[in-house]
Amino acid sequence: MKRIPEPFRIKMVEPIKMTTFSDRQQALKEAGYNPFLLRSDDVYIDLLTDSGTGAMSDNQWAGLMLGDESYAGSRNYYNLCAAVEHFFGYSLTVPAHQGRGAEQILFPALIERMRQVRGGTTPVFISNYHFDTTAGHIELNGGTAVNVVTPEAFDTTTPYDWKGNFDLDKLQTTIDHYGAQNICAITTTVTCNSSGGQPVSMANMRAVYEIASRHDIPVVIDSARYCENAYFIKQREAGYADATILDIIREMYQYGDMLTMSAKKDPMVNIGGLCCIRDHEELFQAVRTRCVPMEGFVTYGGMAGRDMEALARGLYEAANEDFLHYRISQVAYLGERLREAGIPIQYPTGGHAVFVDAAKILPHIPADQFPAQVLCNELYLEAGIRAVEIGSLLLGRDPQTGVQKAAELELMRLTIPRRVYTNDHMDYIADAIIALAKRASCFKGLEFTYEPPVLRHFTAKFRPL
Ligand SMILES: *Cc1c(COP(=O)(O)O)cnc(C)c1O
Repeated sequence: MKRIPEPFRIKMVEPIKMTTFSDRQQALKEAGYNPFLLRSDDVYIDLLTDSGTGAMSDNQWAGLMLGDESYAGSRNYYNLCAAVEHFFGYSLTVPAHQGRGAEQILFPALIERMRQVRGGTTPVFISNYHFDTTAGHIELNGGTAVNVVTPEAFDTTTPYDWKGNFDLDKLQTTIDHYGAQNICAITTTVTCNSSGGQPVSMANMRAVYEIASRHDIPVVIDSARYCENAYFIKQREAGYADATILDIIREMYQYGDMLTMSAKKDPMVNIGGLCCIRDHEELFQAVRTRCVPMEGFVTYGGMAGRDMEALARGLYEAANEDFLHYRISQVAYLGERLREAGIPIQYPTGGHAVFVDAAKILPHIPADQFPAQVLCNELYLEAGIRAVEIGSLLLGRDPQTGVQKAAELELMRLTIPRRVYTNDHMDYIADAIIALAKRASCFKGLEFTYEPPVLRHFTAKFRPL
């Protein structure tokens, strides 16, 4: 597969520390065999997440100098509103400190609307797949979050272009089951993070919007990776090969009434978020009312003026087709190199990460000894690369019985930050994993030495068996 050369040149560099095998042995031991507890200084290539880890451009850094830090009515807020209007066609914008900030000011307002305007009593949200903080905000407010993603999503080996799609039949039966009056919103997550950054087709977004409109249910577009989704539509969906990314984004957002966005992903800022509404003034006022005590005054919502400027500029850069071509190809290239060497991965690769199937590489390690975590640790020891476990460790124990649940898939996620690592780094990562897989049969499982009661994967400690 072809390597697409970087569509940027390097003006400033950040040195990374090179470590030895024995440095890494020591560091991993001190971190309790949990890569989350490593110091980033001990990591050579950090693939923990693509969130807030992207590299800003010279143009974005220049924007920081033009920050207007007035408490109210900052000019950068108006620049941000103009960029939102340009891309999404939504006229009402509330900034937030990041994606979950947008969720905490919008979701309670949607629940209130469901009760007061639509006469429902039990709040339900439906999505292709709720991101974990999104589901968290729904549940914290007494609601139920239901996922209706297409069944192809979790079949890792069978190619399918739209593993982020809604299962439309299931969407309809779920609405009927809970009663349309109780559905606060339908959330279209683009790309679908939880199925591996997999895209949603335009046809599916359109069909979801039609179903929602028929029942008078608002549609929220959860927009962390909307440009990557637009690029997949251009590549894969009939009728879009000649459309511009801008045209595709504009059409996608016709199939929604509002958006929440973690701007730490596609728009390449280190911190920031958005809640934007097409034209619904009443809802906008309700969101703004919550914004003041929770995020900040309505024209900054938890962001500095300079950060709003960097975001306004990032919205333009994120939609650049040459950049997206390189970005998606870089992730696909890493996936292809692994596949050629017989390493099992989720296929096709999504937008922001490659998922390695650890259960297939380590069949001798049972779920309750966390095979994907073992693989992450070995990858760190081998090459100083930090990946993240998406498997039984993340899933946790059955709350009733306390028994460790076995995840359907034991995955090691290699999440690629934007504009940060070069194609040579991708080769280095692939070589390291290929070398690891050859001696996988001698890797040993893990057991807890410390297990926190909630969100344990972040701070748990282990001992190799
Ligand atoms: C990251 C993410 C969020 C939450 O955003 P934060 O900026 O991390 O608060 C919500 N939805 C999706 C799909 C995401 O990927």
